[in-house]
Amino acid sequence: MSILQSLVESVRSGAVEVVDLTAPLSEETPILQLPPPFGNTIPFRKDEISRYDDRGPAWYWNDLHLGEHVGTHFDAPIHWVTARDGQDVSQVPPRSLIAPAVVLDFTAEAGKDPDFLLRIEHVQEWERANGPLPEGGWLLYRTGWDSRAADQAAFLNADETGPHTPGVSVECARWLAEQTPILGIGVETVGTDAGAAHSFDPAFPCHSFLLGAGKYGLTQLRNLDLLPVTGAVVVAPPLPIVGGSGSPVRVLALVER
Ligand code: MN
Repeated sequence: MSILQSLVESVRSGAVEVVDLTAPLSEETPILQLPPPFGNTIPFRKDEISRYDDRGPAWYWNDLHLGEHVGTHFDAPIHWVTARDGQDVSQVPPRSLIAPAVVLDFTAEAGKDPDFLLRIEHVQEWERANGPLPEGGWLLYRTGWDSRAADQAAFLNADETGPHTPGVSVECARWLAEQTPILGIGVETVGTDAGAAHSFDPAFPCHSFLLGAGKYGLTQLRNLDLLPVTGAVVVAPPLPIVGGSGSPVRVLALVER
């Protein structure tokens, strides 16, 4: 049997499970909210063009209104000023869109401290137990934040001092970008950076360093608890928006059972 025949047979039999890591896209999908004077994205909206009626008797369809960074989405390098001449989302090589993934689970830590930050020592300790981070693969950072994804207020977790959601320390973001072979980082939160990362130096270090190094981001993932620590393969193809900074994406993981 060819490799692809074997894959298809394995998916059909359930020997390879397809796990959907994507949040449903609707008017209720939480979105990032930046304070003034910054611009903000629009929430998801769909406008009906026709639904088996005078406007189109046999067909149903909608127009979509949404930002590039709404819901489960892909951050392309050009999203950040550190990669202003880098790839836009249409230029991401297709072969990067199918990649190995590992899961680093810090649900317990983030449950105790919503401002929890992943540090270099955490990743190195994980590597001692599980092997090196995958070359050209995703680091999926599990925090349990997907349990809040149905509620914008709980998901953003903001108070008068700003949002409080888990992320990555400045040093760790720089190290992941410059010293590890990962393709990018995937998170369960609204963005790859911590809620408080506006106050870091540099601000938003995951965006700054990883996108600056030509790596990618995936956000608002769910079901990471259904993945093995190592061994999953992630399929995450964004729309090829010409000149786009990112795109909503359907993220699927292939898992051997
Ligand atoms: Mn984004």
